[in-house]
Amino acid sequence: MAIDLDRCTGCQACVVACHVENNVPVVGELEALKGRTMHWIRIERYWEGEYPNIKARFMPVLCQQCTEAPCEPVCPVFATYHNPEGLNAQIYNRCIGTRFCGSACPYKVRVFNWFRPQFPEPLEQSLNPDVSVRERGIIEKCTFCIQRIRRAELDADAEDRVVEDGEIQPACVQSCPSSALIFGDLNDPESRVSQLARSHRAFRLLEVLGTDPAVIYLKGGETNV
Ligand code: SF4
Repeated sequence: MAIDLDRCTGCQACVVACHVENNVPVVGELEALKGRTMHWIRIERYWEGEYPNIKARFMPVLCQQCTEAPCEPVCPVFATYHNPEGLNAQIYNRCIGTRFCGSACPYKVRVFNWFRPQFPEPLEQSLNPDVSVRERGIIEKCTFCIQRIRRAELDADAEDRVVEDGEIQPACVQSCPSSALIFGDLNDPESRVSQLARSHRAFRLLEVLGTDPAVIYLKGGETNV
């Protein structure tokens, strides 16, 4: 995935779309005050420049799907692992909730489910049947909407063709009004996301740690890609 920081306006449509698509519960004010917020994608705000020439900037932060993921070797039950497509996957019914992975993740994008999620009527009708409703006591996280990836792959298989570039849109990508998020195959050098990864504006979050993330950010403040 590529994230163009010049385009992000901080509207949080991606956050809402992620909640709805992935059955992520809303924890409410009291739990949030205890630091138990649950978002698979969050928008970080920072300031650029000095007053009065100061600008608010926004940075969407989600699982970076690291190639050298620090969360994977610390899980005692192999609930988190690297799949052949390069995704850092999470097996919910294997997780025993030690939270070692959450501690090891430098991006703090793994969230612990502290309570039994409630979806009071009529909210239960909005649950996505393609995604499990997780129980208390496990870690959950972004998987680039793996259910949408699988659906596109099955559709392409049935039609005897390959998945086209841009065909798979995770909920955050689909909902972003300014097209700040671009999803595609980094193994295909011609894909839009690969082209953006070669931009002089490209950087990876905390790349000094050697995690080799699969999310590429494009620096804000410069317009030519
Ligand atoms: S929906 Fe797009 S513009 Fe809005 S916060 Fe998310 S990435 Fe930024």
